[in-house]
Order: sequence, then structure tokens, then C-alpha cells
Amino acid sequence: MTKGKNPQTTREYNQALILSLIAKHSAISRVDLARLGKLSKPVVTSIVDNLMAAGLVKEGPKAESTVGRRPVMLHITEDFYRIIGIDLSRDHITLVVTTLTGEIRQRISESLDVENTQSAKHEITDAVLDMVNRTKLDRKQIVGVGVAHPFPLSSSRKLIVANQDVGDWKAVKLGEELSDVLGVPVHLDNDANLAAMHERWYGRARKISDFVYVLIGNGVGAGIYNNGRLVRGHLGFAGEIGHIVVTPGGEQCVCGNRGCLETEISLRRFDRLEEEAASNRDLEEKINQYALRLGRHLGNIVNIFNPQALIIGGAFVSEARIPREVVERAVYEAVHPVLRSTLQLMFVEDVPDNVAKGAASLVGLYAYRQPHRYFPNLSQSNNRQP
Ligand SMILES: [Zn+2]
Repeated sequence: MTKGKNPQTTREYNQALILSLIAKHSAISRVDLARLGKLSKPVVTSIVDNLMAAGLVKEGPKAESTVGRRPVMLHITEDFYRIIGIDLSRDHITLVVTTLTGEIRQRISESLDVENTQSAKHEITDAVLDMVNRTKLDRKQIVGVGVAHPFPLSSSRKLIVANQDVGDWKAVKLGEELSDVLGVPVHLDNDANLAAMHERWYGRARKISDFVYVLIGNGVGAGIYNNGRLVRGHLGFAGEIGHIVVTPGGEQCVCGNRGCLETEISLRRFDRLEEEAASNRDLEEKINQYALRLGRHLGNIVNIFNPQALIIGGAFVSEARIPREVVERAVYEAVHPVLRSTLQLMFVEDVPDNVAKGAASLVGLYAYRQPHRYFPNLSQSNNRQP
């Protein structure tokens, strides 16, 4: 949002501000909007009228009040607009359809071996388009599509998909292709960032502005929030902790380097412990060593960013039989003594839909910042204003 100089951009700025305030507070009166937005009451009234005419905002029951007139409360409407969130994992795709307030209304999930398809480019795009068509949504209802993926993005926003076995890298213009075919905005970000965004918007980090979300599945990545903002880095690569080299010359990683953290603590690595163990006792010992190693690495991440909370999620948390108390002990042993008393450590199990929901919130983030670009009905109702 940039405060504009001409009347039209000022109105767009105020519109975004009011819509964001309604979304943030779930229920708010016109009087409070004027106070919090530092706007005059006529401006608030006029903008709220537009938002209601565009089907974005509705009036709810009057507030509980014992003194004076009870104000009418405004809410974001859940009736018409839908956001599509997609979790493009390495072996399956999950699509959720959410309301503007993040409620899931539809969910489709199916397997697709993204890394090993011969023509990842077309298969990914086709699979996503097929799923979008199966939602039977009218294009006018779709505000945008958010895609969470486990791959790096190139500087030109192409998805870099790697084949685990042959190291064959493919650049997929997924965002552009989907947007061209669907005719709606498409936003992409990596899965760890979007899992973190989900926690910040709807989950455990709503009141925590400094936290690190470590997503452990077949890959390992982190979404880092610093002072309420997602840390992206120069090329958007911040948080790729799976590619910190921990064992020089170690196992070959999907990125081309050797001995990356991902080769040692991913779900894939954990699953191999069972095959490698000579006996049940040996397996237990291996799992214990694994948990200690994981905890130490996570402790080091805490030492770098000093988060208030370290959230650990991903398929790993729900699927791997990992002794959490061992991980927890190793984290607290590795962190600087000064940080031990304030660090909150959380394991979250319900990640699969959360990543897709995080992808939907990415679209919400852009749409609330520039509503006139995302809600065509809104520009029409603006034009009707004197
Ligand atoms: Zn790597």
C-alpha cells in the first residue's frame, strides 16, 4: 500500500486500509474504522458502501453494548469470493479452496511424482488446471491462486525442479502459464515460507513476530519471521537451511552439493534408518542419534535468528517415530544459555493442508493490499462514485 497523491490513488489506499482493518478485526464498527484508520466518517461510509456493493463486506449483528446506540459490526463476507491454495509437494498435489477469511470449503489431493516426470513443466501445469476445473468454481469467484512448492525459484520467478536421481534441473514457468490460462493472478512461494505465513495469519504465531518455522518433509526448509515480516533475502533464497553443508564431502544432495543438512535430517533419511538397522535395539540407538543431531542443528538455527518460538512441522512430524523429548533436550543444550529460558519449542502435526492454506493466504496478502486489482466488482462500484 502506498499513500497516493491523486484522489483516485488516495481512495485506493484508503480502501485497502479499511478492508485490511475489517479482515484483521473480524468484526468492527464504522466508528472504529474511522478512529483506527485516522479517516473521516464520510470517507469510511463511502468506502464501506463500495466494499458492500462489491460483495466483499457485509453487516452483521449489532455489537453488545449497555450504553448508547449499539453499532453495526462489519465483517468480510464468505459468500462469493474464493481463493485457491495449492501445495505442490515432491510426490503429490493438494488443492484447497478457501473463503476470504481462510475457511476451507473444498479440498482435492492426488499423487504426482513431480521430480521424475519426463516433462514436469506440462504435467504440473496440466494437473493443477485439471484440479482447478474440478472445483467447478466460476472464474469470477477466483481471487487468485497461491502455489506452495518445495523448489527454489530462479531470479525470473521460474520454478527450478530437480530430478533426485539424475540431477536434471528444469525451469518451469508455472506461475505465468497458470495465470495465462486461468486469467487470474497466481503467486508462488516456497512451502516453508507459506507454512510460516499460515502460522502467522491463523495459527500459533498470531501474536509472535519473531519465529522460525522449520518444515521437514522429503526436503528441509525454514520460514523466518523477523519483526513481523518474512525474511526473503537477496534472491528470495533465505531460509534454505536444508542446504547448509554439515558434512563436507558427504552424501550427494539434490542441489548438487554434498553433505547438506537435508541429506541427514529429512524424512527420506529417517525412513532409511529402518533399512540400515541390524536389530531393534540398533534401530532405537540410530533413532536416538538422529534425534540428537536434529536437535543440535535446530539449536544452531535458533542461535542465528534468536526467535521467540521455533516451530517444527511437516510430514516428518506426523509420520516419523521420533522421540520429541530427545530433540527438545538437544535443542536447548545447543542454544546459547541466555536464550534457553525464553525459547518456545512447538511441534505441529497438521501441516499438509496448512501449507495449501498458507498458499491461499499469500493471495489474500496481495489482494488486501491492492483490492482494486483483485476484485473486478470493486473497480466497477468505485466508478459509480461521484
Ligand atoms: Zn543441498
